[in-house]
Amino acid sequence: MTALLLDGRGLAKELKAQISQKGAEFKARTGYAPQLVVIQVAGNAASDWYVRSIRRSCEGVGFGFALQRLPETCDQATLEAAIQQASNDPSIHGIIIQMPLPSQLSADGAVAALNPQKDVDGLHPTNAGRLAQGLAVLVPNTPAGGMALLDRYQINLAGKHAVVVGRSNVVGKPLAQLLLARHATVTICHSRTANLAEVIRQGDLVAAAVGKAGLVTGEMLKPGAVVLDFGINEVAEGQVVGDVDWESASKVASAITPVPGGTGPVTNMMLLQNTLQAAQWLAEQA
Ligand code: NDP
Repeated sequence: MTALLLDGRGLAKELKAQISQKGAEFKARTGYAPQLVVIQVAGNAASDWYVRSIRRSCEGVGFGFALQRLPETCDQATLEAAIQQASNDPSIHGIIIQMPLPSQLSADGAVAALNPQKDVDGLHPTNAGRLAQGLAVLVPNTPAGGMALLDRYQINLAGKHAVVVGRSNVVGKPLAQLLLARHATVTICHSRTANLAEVIRQGDLVAAAVGKAGLVTGEMLKPGAVVLDFGINEVAEGQVVGDVDWESASKVASAITPVPGGTGPVTNMMLLQNTLQAAQWLAEQA
C-alpha cells in the first residue's frame, strides 16, 4: 500500500490566501487589522526562532505583530502585569505567551492572567473547558491544524477508532476532544500506557504527539490506518523527523502526514485564524 501524503504545505498556502482575504475584509469593515502580541521572556534560542516565524506569518497576511520582550530574570508579578496590560489593551486581539518560561516562572500562573478571549493558543482553562463542552472557542493551534488536514482530505471520523498518543494540554488532550466532537471513539495513550503497540493497532486513525523520534512504527499500525504525526525531533543538525517511523509506516497507512511538511506548516495558519476570530469576537462586543 502506498499512503496518501497529507500535504500540510499545500494546505497552509490555501489557508494563507483565505485568511489574508478575510483579514482584509475585517480591516475594511473596522478600520484596523487584527493585532497579535507575543510576550517573551528572553533566554531561549529555539523560542527566538519561533517568534520570528510568527512575525513572518502575521506580516504575510497583513496582521499587526508586536513583540514584548522581558528580561530573563523577570519575576512572576512583572510577567503577569505585562499579560494583564495586553489583555486590557483594546488594540490587541491575540496574545501568545512564548513557552518555555525560565524555571523561576509559573506557566500556569501566566496563562491564568490572560484574557481568555485573546488566548489565541487556546491554553486558558476557560478555553480548555469550553472545548470539552463543545462551545465556540479558540482551539489550540497544533491539534486544530491536524483536524484541518483531515478535513482537507475529507477523512471521515464518525464511528472510527482514533488513538491519540500523548496527553499534553497543547496537543494530545485538545486533539482528543476535537476527534470526539467529530464522533470518533477516542483512546488517549501516554507514557504509562500498557501494551502501547496493541492499543495503537486498534486505531483507524493514529495521532502521535510525543516528542520521541520513530516511536510509532509500521508494525504497530492497523493496515489502512490514517496517521497524523505531530512530532518534531531534531535528530541531527538541521534534520527533523516525526514521532512516526516514516519508512515503515508509510507502507502500511492509507494516509499520513510527512515530517517536515505535514502538521507543522498548518499550525501557524491556525494561529492566524484564531487571531482573526478573536478580533471578530472582540469587535462584535465593542
Ligand atoms: P509533551 O512533552 O508535553 O507531551 C508528550 C506526551 O507524550 C506526554 O503525554 C507523555 O506522557 C507522552 N509520552 C512520552 N513518552 C511516551 C512513550 N514512550 N509512550 C507513550 N507516550 C509517551 O509534548 P507536546 O505535546 O508539547 O509535544 C509533542 C510533540 O509534538 C513534540 O515533538 C513537539 O515538538 C511537537 N509539537 C509539534 C507542534 C506542531 O506544530 N506540529 C506544536 C507543538 C508541539 P506522560 O503524560 O505520561 O508524560
